[in-house]
Amino acid sequence: MAASSTPTRSIRVSSRPEVAALPVYNAGLSEDEVRQKYNASHISKLGSNENPYGPSPTALKQWDCLIQRMFRYPDATASTLRQALVQVTDVPADHIMLGNGSEQIIRLISEAYLSPRERVVTVLPSFGLHVIWPEMMGARVDAVPITAEGQFDLPAMKQAVQAAPLKILMFSNPSNPVGCMMEAQDMLELVECCPPDTLIVIDEAYYEYALGSKNYPDATKILPRQARPWLVLRTFSKAYALAGLRIGYALASDTGVITTLNKVRDPFNTNMAAQDMALASLQDRTHMQTSVATTVAERERFMHELTQLGYTPVPSHTNFIFLDVGRNASVLAESLLRHGVIIKPWREKGFETHLRVSVGLPTDNDRFLRALALETGQTDDSH
Ligand SMILES: *Cc1c(COP(=O)(O)O)cnc(C)c1O
Repeated sequence: MAASSTPTRSIRVSSRPEVAALPVYNAGLSEDEVRQKYNASHISKLGSNENPYGPSPTALKQWDCLIQRMFRYPDATASTLRQALVQVTDVPADHIMLGNGSEQIIRLISEAYLSPRERVVTVLPSFGLHVIWPEMMGARVDAVPITAEGQFDLPAMKQAVQAAPLKILMFSNPSNPVGCMMEAQDMLELVECCPPDTLIVIDEAYYEYALGSKNYPDATKILPRQARPWLVLRTFSKAYALAGLRIGYALASDTGVITTLNKVRDPFNTNMAAQDMALASLQDRTHMQTSVATTVAERERFMHELTQLGYTPVPSHTNFIFLDVGRNASVLAESLLRHGVIIKPWREKGFETHLRVSVGLPTDNDRFLRALALETGQTDDSH
């Protein structure tokens, strides 16, 4: 048949109403897309909180060995990697599950535990998937706004978890996108207010960056003080600089939670390269710790520069900074792209004047600062 007979009319198949109502996740533009669209020669990619110092050289050496073995399926339960994680986390191996990024684990939690109309409490502004995956299952998500100072609003959160039956309490600590953190005592008090069978999910994607902050609570040490079901999520994407390989993990209160999640997990969800590189990265944590320390020091310089420009960024315990730019951040983000700078403008209601910028290499951060000053008319070119 001739190509001209291709039907122009499109037939739609309807999705579940929960899915139809979902927003499309905003993952931002890739470097290649920005390069092509804006004809930029250098791209400062500060939109996704990656670690620009890269993974451990020890880990990179794994590639040769990997090529020999990759005709095989990966270890379905990542047993060697889980054993190595026992050493790092003090959590038993059968309380650990690997995910294709911790994003996938958020999805698995939602699929395994949430029925339509069940309630989830999180915070606002939120990490998008803490809202999207529960809503996909038909759950209702209550997001408790942060305070005007950019901190968790503990009284409001306590009230929210008690307001109606609660299936899951889920938020990131420290918070993405705000960068603030909840201290141990507050976390304990909040958890105590939850019904006893609420699943507590603390997303610690920035754990390694926050460890150096005074009073940062490792939730795996706090949550076991009460007999409750809980999950703590961590990832190799940020401090370990393996974002492209997609690997993260869950630490659980008990084997029951892990067994449930394993039922909905794709059997070979983490690939061989990801498992190998994660394992090797754990064997050279000094590299990770050095890059974290460098980033934390650079973050403080970056914060100082922003203050000089007249901004009041929220103190951060992560590798990014959340900033009120006093104008529509999406419009500003578009003009920054013309300078080859990628950042994440916030789109949630009430936060449209905020952007999140990753702490990258000093040259990239400076490029952002220059572009920001130019676009907002704050250049001191007068002298
Ligand atoms: C980056 C991030 C993740 C995603 O981690 P992956 O392991 O790459 O899927 C999860 N949660 C939060 C809060 C994050 O910022």
